Amino acid sequence: MNEIVRSTCCYCGVGCGLLIETDNGGIVGVRGDPAHPANHGRLCSKGASLHLSTRPEYRLLHPQLRRQRDAARQRVGWDEALDHAADRFAGIIAAHGPDSVAFYISGQLLTEDYYVFNKLAKGLIGTNNVDTNSRLCMSSAVAGYKQTLGADAPPCSYEDIALADCLLIAGANPAIAHPIVFRRIEDARAANPALRIIVVDPRRSETAAIADLHLPLAPGSDIALYNGLLHVLLAEGLVNRDYIARHTEGFEALEKTVAAYTPDVVARLCGLPKADIIRAGRWFGSAAAALSLYCQGLNQSAHGTHNNAALIHLHLATGQIGRPGAGPFSLTGQPNAMGGREVGGLANLLSAHRDLANPEHRAEVARLWGVPSVPERPGKTAIELFAALRTGEVKAVWIACTNPAQSLPAQAEVRAALREAAFVVLQEAYADTDTASFADLLLPATTWGEKEGTVTNSERRITHLVPAVAPPGEARHDWRIAVDFARRLGRRLAPPLAANLFPYEHPEQIFAEHRQSTLGRDLDIGGLSYSLLDTLGPQQWPFPAGASSGRQRLYEDGIFPTANGRARFVVAEHRPTAEVTDASFPISLLSGRLRDQWHGMSRTGTVARLFNLDDEPLLTMHPADLRQRDLHGGDLVTARNARGSIVVRVAADDGLPRGSAWLPMHWGSRYMNSAGVNALTTPARDPFSQQPELKHAAVAVDKADLPWQLVVLRLADGGETDTPGLLEAGRRLLGDFDFATVGLYGRRRPLVILRAAHRQPLPDDRLREIDRLFGLADDAAAIVYADRQRQVSKRAIAPDGRLIGVRLAGETLAQSWLKEVMADDSLDAELVRWAVAPIGRRPGKLPQRSPVVCRCADVTAAEITADLASGASLAALQERRGCGTFCGSCLPELRQMVAAHASETPGAKAA
Ligand code: SF4
Repeated sequence: MNEIVRSTCCYCGVGCGLLIETDNGGIVGVRGDPAHPANHGRLCSKGASLHLSTRPEYRLLHPQLRRQRDAARQRVGWDEALDHAADRFAGIIAAHGPDSVAFYISGQLLTEDYYVFNKLAKGLIGTNNVDTNSRLCMSSAVAGYKQTLGADAPPCSYEDIALADCLLIAGANPAIAHPIVFRRIEDARAANPALRIIVVDPRRSETAAIADLHLPLAPGSDIALYNGLLHVLLAEGLVNRDYIARHTEGFEALEKTVAAYTPDVVARLCGLPKADIIRAGRWFGSAAAALSLYCQGLNQSAHGTHNNAALIHLHLATGQIGRPGAGPFSLTGQPNAMGGREVGGLANLLSAHRDLANPEHRAEVARLWGVPSVPERPGKTAIELFAALRTGEVKAVWIACTNPAQSLPAQAEVRAALREAAFVVLQEAYADTDTASFADLLLPATTWGEKEGTVTNSERRITHLVPAVAPPGEARHDWRIAVDFARRLGRRLAPPLAANLFPYEHPEQIFAEHRQSTLGRDLDIGGLSYSLLDTLGPQQWPFPAGASSGRQRLYEDGIFPTANGRARFVVAEHRPTAEVTDASFPISLLSGRLRDQWHGMSRTGTVARLFNLDDEPLLTMHPADLRQRDLHGGDLVTARNARGSIVVRVAADDGLPRGSAWLPMHWGSRYMNSAGVNALTTPARDPFSQQPELKHAAVAVDKADLPWQLVVLRLADGGETDTPGLLEAGRRLLGDFDFATVGLYGRRRPLVILRAAHRQPLPDDRLREIDRLFGLADDAAAIVYADRQRQVSKRAIAPDGRLIGVRLAGETLAQSWLKEVMADDSLDAELVRWAVAPIGRRPGKLPQRSPVVCRCADVTAAEITADLASGASLAALQERRGCGTFCGSCLPELRQMVAAHASETPGAKAA
């Protein structure tokens, strides 16, 4: 039976609402939810392909336990799994104390899941060792808000983007990382041509392309820039002295500090033209409404908290806060990092924005939970936690819904810690993350489309989610797993205390307890319930009892949640990056996101169309830096420093400054033969937020001498040659080469691609083994070419004249045109022999691939033209192919194509 269920996208913090279409108990489609205020029906390419990411083959379906080190894990029942975990945790706690265990959880959990984990660690066990992967993305934003505004609360709404007349986009690339926010920026620009957009980013990013002023500052010089802008505001009389006097404190000291940050000084520190610094200050200071949008570029820094504070100062000094279109607006990376912050799911926080360091707050939480006390000693934050696991201070770790064996910096140390830990539990939806191989106990969890609970997006908006489909296999909800474990552990640790600590049988009971904890606090949600969220739709906090809607904008009255109601200026001085480049490691390595991938690719890495823009990780560098190293686009390089090394292909990007390189964060050991960018990143961290400096590491980049190359292209055909099996085949081979990646590509039918390079050719028996793994061993259907002298060997399989697989060894020139024709299934039988031709030229007869117009629905210009020729209107096109119905960025081009067709074709529809 066909059903539509309202939900949200599980990727970024924009928190787009979507409609899940189910059929026969499975998810068969998604559309943007027109009624959701975050996106009004729009979705980006990731959200639009969520229904393609639900194949059970990738899921963890049953608990698995490793009883002894180095033994294989075996399937066990839930009772045995949880009893074993409770025995191990209880034993370790009894022998070594509560701080010998830890929990590392995720901004992708629902708020209710988070709440239970927090109570389990801090309330039952008596340790604050519960931290999350939000430490890696948003903790400097939290600390920055708290230091200046007094509470961790983004004061703005998405609606403010349309109301601003100056947008300062700093350390963020919403065109790629928050695409639906970017659509709002484009709309604002179209509606208000006078809107001024300033983009601060060392790289000329996709967002910088629409900037009126791009400030490509030197990595780590953010504080200098914002102090410099404040200097300009002061010099030009653009500060709001009245607002400063009535609503803030500490300005005098900061004013003295920024006196030294003259445009000349800042131009030198940041590597920017002095005139651009002055222009940016004037634009910001003279705007009727100035809005800042910022993200990881500010946060992932060894001085991320002060990066945030220095930017927020600009708003406080000009009174650009608490007004329509104005304010400092941090864009959240993960879908529910906000929810985790609300329940205090970090090692230094307590429920409802309470502080662990505050004895009254600890007492309040202890009372609420019915426990004698909450421990005073701060817990270990992410980097500290894994360092303590490495030294043995922490002996057991429970990881939920995150992948530290890919996402934490300095991977060699993290992996050693996981290998040597006494007990590692991983609660996950996916069976094959990098962390899974280290787990002694794997517990299958539910995921997107299967769970009930709440999430909060970047603009403080809470959505109630309900399941669209039943959990697969034996997967259980995250809150349920935590509750079942907590009850068992409670019986072993403190039976009378634990008897009523976790009485929950439904997530709404957990929500009700969380709601209770917020009463009278800045995030008071006393007026919310699941049914109210269902009736009124998603709501922003605060939403106290008696309110009829959530609050769109905070601090409109100029009163801040500090002891005296005043916002604070904090003195922030310029500091360089934790590591500086030198003659040995001359390149500043920046890391970032791609539009179509998400985090460690455990979900997006299963969807072929999400590889069509970027199907391998490319290290981009300025063309002059490539020339200096005698490198060309496509060459292989080794990027290395004292922490590790990786081999990747390079590409030129003249939008990068000289002396820097950029690498996407998404590829880890499941998709390449190294830990990816985090083999190189530094664990150096901000002293307030403890967030690591993932945006900069000093590295050396040199040509890799790997002359022998291999490429396998294999269409997934179903059965043994279906996508999951082929991906796994590629993964088994990754370790055999000096360079290797495996991934997907394609449109209707996925193409699996293995690319590899090595110092010397592989022997024939190894090639035969590769052919066998990829289903290319059938001699009857094979076309082969071999040249022993050149050490070239090629093999194609084309049953009935249809090319389904190619292995090229020694010479791989044909790979790029073969990739396109195989993905389109468009190679004529008579041209199949070209696949293994001695020199891999593209056949002259081959038509060029039609460009993709709608990337979200993956629709090409040729398909649109064909539909228009058959009489389709724009509406019919949208209905049939879905083009232009997701993020909307291709609609102008679509309309143009329809109009052009109408003008050339008498009687054709113009719309
Ligand atoms: Fe999902 Fe894209 Fe919306 Fe982010 S912008 S929530 S990834 S659909």
